[in-house]
Amino acid sequence: MADLFIGGHWRSARHERTREIRCPADGSLVAVVDEGDGEDTVEAVAAARRAFDEGPWPHTSGARRGDLLLRVAALLDRDRAALARAESLDTGKRLVESATDIDDVAACFRYFGRLAGTDDGRVVDAGDPAIDSRIVHEPIGVCALITPWNYPLLQTAWKVAPALAAGNTFVLKPSELTPHTSLGLMRLLQEAGLPDGVANLVLGAGPEAGAPLADHPDVDLVSFTGGLHTGRRIMAAAAGTVKRVALELGGKNPNIVFADADFDTAVDHALTAVFLHSGQVCSAGARLLVQDGLHDRFVAEVVRRARGIRLGGPFDEQARTGPLISAAHRAKVEAYVAAGLAEGAVLRCGGQRPDDPRLADGFYYLPTVLDECHGAMSVVRAESFGPVLTVERFRTEDEAVRLANDTVYGLAGAVWTTDQARAARVAARLRLGTVWINDFHPYLPQAEWGGYKQSGTGRELGPGGLAEYREIKHVWRNTAPTALHWFD
Ligand code: NAD
Repeated sequence: MADLFIGGHWRSARHERTREIRCPADGSLVAVVDEGDGEDTVEAVAAARRAFDEGPWPHTSGARRGDLLLRVAALLDRDRAALARAESLDTGKRLVESATDIDDVAACFRYFGRLAGTDDGRVVDAGDPAIDSRIVHEPIGVCALITPWNYPLLQTAWKVAPALAAGNTFVLKPSELTPHTSLGLMRLLQEAGLPDGVANLVLGAGPEAGAPLADHPDVDLVSFTGGLHTGRRIMAAAAGTVKRVALELGGKNPNIVFADADFDTAVDHALTAVFLHSGQVCSAGARLLVQDGLHDRFVAEVVRRARGIRLGGPFDEQARTGPLISAAHRAKVEAYVAAGLAEGAVLRCGGQRPDDPRLADGFYYLPTVLDECHGAMSVVRAESFGPVLTVERFRTEDEAVRLANDTVYGLAGAVWTTDQARAARVAARLRLGTVWINDFHPYLPQAEWGGYKQSGTGRELGPGGLAEYREIKHVWRNTAPTALHWFD
């Protein structure tokens, strides 16, 4: 094994520890990989530091950096099938979804590849013709990129592509559960001709291999996507060296349905909003807010259709959603549902593991609907990150907005109504980084993604995503310097 990529070389973990990667769909062994720890991470930081301080990459023109990203996009297209398969085996996700993810990864590299060549520095008028004053963009330095397991390569691409476009070097620490597509990406970066030491990969658990990145003095920025509690820990650890910190955290996303919404479309999207990838989506529409008059009919139809969702592994073409990532994560979802029921939620469907013997070895959980919930319940407030929909009722527009905003999170959400004026009013009042009107889940590489409140501090994608990885320098040139004679 040689799964760590440091300074342009593949090598094993220093202490020769390993980890078994098992497919969540059936528990089968995918591979045994190296398990790094803090010493490996420190070495990777040193390689990234050297490549930044001495290497050509930070001083390579934006256009040439962009060319490299475009080559990576072409290589991703070439290796689409193999990467999708690797992603599905690590995550248990349906193959067709993984393949779409790889297309989105390539689109991300293409977007930042094109953006890299556009120099948006500017001249500033100093009011004196002898002064030449400019704002220029420079890379930040060594970036620590820490990513989760739900969209492993996509979340990685959202960081790696803009970090490289801006001229940084980086150490990537993917989730210990889903390392394979990060390994694949490193090989493609190498093939595309990225100089040694610009990209470094450390595998291993968060507290061991990840934590040293947050307080290392040679790391200039930490960009983290993951859970709220880990994000808080990273932000605190980064304070000692006043690092740039970009956090993309969780969500408890409202999906607001008014009585005048198009019924069939809103029901259909309410299902994909929460049950796509078994709810393991940061922007999952896990909180359904339905207007009173519509509530009973709407929930009955959601439940009828949720009962019919076929669960299955990556290669089951009839399946519509898959397993949870691990036994531990399923236990968390089960505890969350149990707490909801204890608090008075009414179980309409699911609430247990499937009894289908075909699924017995995987970490499956049935699509679950908890009705008659209210905002004080923990089941409504906390992120379950599983296939669990909580349903609340509202009467008025004001009440819908108040309920939707009554959360520490602020990532994304939707409003369903045929009244366009109301849609615009509600969208303007929601404290969310993304608001969908009569839709759920789509995003664009050219449009920023990020959360309000405790959903994060960062922006990914779009020009703002590139700005996260750039320093802004003011260069003042006096073309006719004279002595000031201040101290004469
Ligand atoms: P997690 O916080 O458990 O882990 C994320 C990453 O952090 C992993 O690589 C992990 O090894 C590492 N880590 C853990 N402890 C660490 C520490 N002390 N120091 C440094 N690194 C550490 O999250 P997860 O369970 O992998 O992912 C699910 C979470 O990610 C959900 O909360 C979800 O909402 C969030 N998420 C957010 C977005 C977004 O765009 N906002 C996107 C995807 C996922």
